Amino acid sequence: MSQPRTGEPLVSIRSVSRRFGDVEALQQVSLEIRQGEFFALLGPSGCGKTTLLRILAGFEQPDSGSVTLDGADLLAVAPHRRPVNLMFQSYALFPHLSVAKNIAYGLERERRPRNEIRERVDEVLATVGLTGLARRRPHQLSGGQRQRVALARAIVKRPRLLLLDEPLSALDKKVRAEMQLELKRLQHEVGITFVVVTHDQEEAMSLADRIAVLNEGRVRQVDAPVPLYERPGDLFVADFIGANNLITGVLTSDGLRVPDVGVLPCPAAPDRVGATATLAVRPERVRLGADGGLAGVVRDVTFFGGTTRVAVEVPGLDRPLLATVAGATAVALGDETRVDWPGADVVLLDGPDR
Ligand code: ATP
Repeated sequence: MSQPRTGEPLVSIRSVSRRFGDVEALQQVSLEIRQGEFFALLGPSGCGKTTLLRILAGFEQPDSGSVTLDGADLLAVAPHRRPVNLMFQSYALFPHLSVAKNIAYGLERERRPRNEIRERVDEVLATVGLTGLARRRPHQLSGGQRQRVALARAIVKRPRLLLLDEPLSALDKKVRAEMQLELKRLQHEVGITFVVVTHDQEEAMSLADRIAVLNEGRVRQVDAPVPLYERPGDLFVADFIGANNLITGVLTSDGLRVPDVGVLPCPAAPDRVGATATLAVRPERVRLGADGGLAGVVRDVTFFGGTTRVAVEVPGLDRPLLATVAGATAVALGDETRVDWPGADVVLLDGPDR
């Protein structure tokens, strides 16, 4: 069978729904996952991402809808016959087997020739950087090393699709950052299509070529990290991805009118005058100490090293406005300041419905 080229559709999910009792875990989900891409399913707890992953792996069947891989019906194929591998959150390594034996396990079950098994295990050990640790048992490894063994075991069978369920959640922050880089490198090197499930938006943004944001069983947006951040398509995505200042009002020909605050700068929307809308402006676009703008009082200053986050309470707004500035800042708690932002840096979103 010829392999499709990178960028061509590998998996097509069409109108997939799955219900558990009263819970609609997935509602009419449609997604296309491309050959060779690193794809993330991102959303809050309970949004349905694991259910979708389990459907791809074959541990769950949808109530309706279709899933194809290379154009062929995937749902009709038994889990163990699918060219799909799932790497569990817990890694699920065999404690009594060495690293090499853990990795070889799947190939031995397929009764592959000994030489081939040895070669493939050696090759994959080198890929994940564990050549020297082949004889160790899982308990003699660090968390990051166990993660690599689990990855090695998942890729040694050369699946078309590798599914990873919260792959880095068990690791501490520093190892996690290292493993993010490692996962990306590895995915690039082996060329297998990866689908990762995560509730951590920073992780999704740093790993994935494209991200599907899910909420309450529905796909809200599918995009690459930069457009997802810069052009969220709805209020949920604007609030879920990164920090955002969200202010609701009514559109006028001059901006967004917010009761007790004023008319705030936003892009012109002549055809929506009179409609309820929410402006979303990122903290790094908000300017402190402006000449005009809104008057407020500094309520919090948090120094992160490279940047500082300042929260400014503005009378009439229900949440403090967040401004991120480079490096340290001279403003202090209790200072009076003014904030503004360029109207062109605002994303205007419909609603919320009242
Ligand atoms: P988390 O990040 O917490 O794992 P998730 O986004 O992966 O969440 P799912 O595990 O897909 O969410 O669950 C989606 C919804 O379906 C949840 O409300 C969950 O309680 C429900 N659900 C999932 N599996 C079952 C099941 N076997 N029986 C009943 N309800 C289920």
